[in-house]
Amino acid sequence: MSVYDVAVVGLGAMGSAALYHLAVRGQRVIGLERATPGHSGGSSHGESRIIRTAYFEHPSYVPLLRRAYENWLALEWTTGAELMTITGILEAGVPGAAVVQGSLAAARLHDLPHEILSAREVGERFPAFTLPADWEAVFQPDAGFLRPERAIDTYIAAGMTAGAEVRANTLILSVAPTVGGVRLTTENGAVIDAGSVVVSAGAWIGELFPELKRHLRLTRQALGWFDPVQPALVTPDRFPVFLFESTDDIVYGFPDFAGTGVKAASHMHGLELPSADAARQDANAADAARISDALARFVPAAAGPVRTLKTCIYTNTPDQDFILGPHALFPQIVLASPCSGHGFKFASVIGEILADLAILGATPHDIARFRLDRFG
Ligand SMILES: Cc1cc2nc3c(=O)[nH]c(=O)nc-3n(C[C@H](O)[C@H](O)[C@H](O)COP(=O)(O)OP(=O)(O)OC[C@H]3O[C@@H](n4cnc5c(N)ncnc54)[C@H](O)[C@@H]3O)c2cc1C
Repeated sequence: MSVYDVAVVGLGAMGSAALYHLAVRGQRVIGLERATPGHSGGSSHGESRIIRTAYFEHPSYVPLLRRAYENWLALEWTTGAELMTITGILEAGVPGAAVVQGSLAAARLHDLPHEILSAREVGERFPAFTLPADWEAVFQPDAGFLRPERAIDTYIAAGMTAGAEVRANTLILSVAPTVGGVRLTTENGAVIDAGSVVVSAGAWIGELFPELKRHLRLTRQALGWFDPVQPALVTPDRFPVFLFESTDDIVYGFPDFAGTGVKAASHMHGLELPSADAARQDANAADAARISDALARFVPAAAGPVRTLKTCIYTNTPDQDFILGPHALFPQIVLASPCSGHGFKFASVIGEILADLAILGATPHDIARFRLDRFG
């Protein structure tokens, strides 16, 4: 008999949430992480992540987002950690921008709070922004940002309080099905047996399951923190999270909530990586210039000198939707690659879904969109 009901490989956003949901349901669960949880080599670091409900990517994400909000609030309530800050989000772009049209479609279909604003109204309400006169904008008041490193720490600590075991600095080299379960092998040759496994290895998932590799494109994304030119205009009470679609980019950013500057980044431009372990070129002057140019045009109050630059990895699928579900041949192996640059906000509901799949083999949440076999 296995010592563990469930093992979780990778304790980033998704794995830490799964660990927690499994532990609070009374499962004997072990979490295995190749580095130190909360590290800055994967996809879940950098101080902030956007959360929003009227989802421009597709309206079918909205029910999951509603549950994600509930679960983030429940985690805050249970642990006392401050994880989510509501500032609203201003989405804007060139006429017909997919970001604006998609959010409006989701908002109308699901009756979500939103306001349509002209460029002039945006400037009056949020003086940090100067948008071209022909741009369209939509404001969602219930959006904001999450604190990723703190959320991962909180999930792991609360999971351990509920009985989860955690091994950091433990690289899993293989995940193999056995009769009635799975066997994991660590870098040091130790074996861990469990009834089922959640593989939430982020950008490394293709190393453990090479059949996924050809569907995943890894990109190195640059993030910059910029000195505000007008600090009073970029505080969370006056400056919402923003997401702007111009003719050649989608740029997003956050208020200066921690005194570290305004964080901003390009969602479109990323340098392709051959593997997650490939030496990552540090963010450079060209990365900073691209973001800085966009700030100078649309957010002049934030367009001071760059203070800090970092990089982070997107794990992109061909359709930008997630990969989430049981392995086709071995349902006791549950695979999760919910990234494509927009997964963090879902971690609180995906952790619940992963626990459902690992314990019951099924979930009441609709995850058909994320089927592993959709790429053939
Ligand atoms: C720059 C950037 C900005 C983003 N902005 C947003 C945003 O605003 N809103 C949003 O919702 N989403 C956003 N995302 C996406 C979101 O951050 C990701 O979808 C999410 O963090 C992915 O979590 P994960 O658990 O899949 O991966 P990770 O958090 O990277 O976790 C994977 C973990 O697995 C471990 N691991 C890997 N292989 C092994 C192994 N063999 N053995 C043991 N451990 C292993 C790794 O060390 C890592 O800790 C952004 C992503 C980036 C990079």
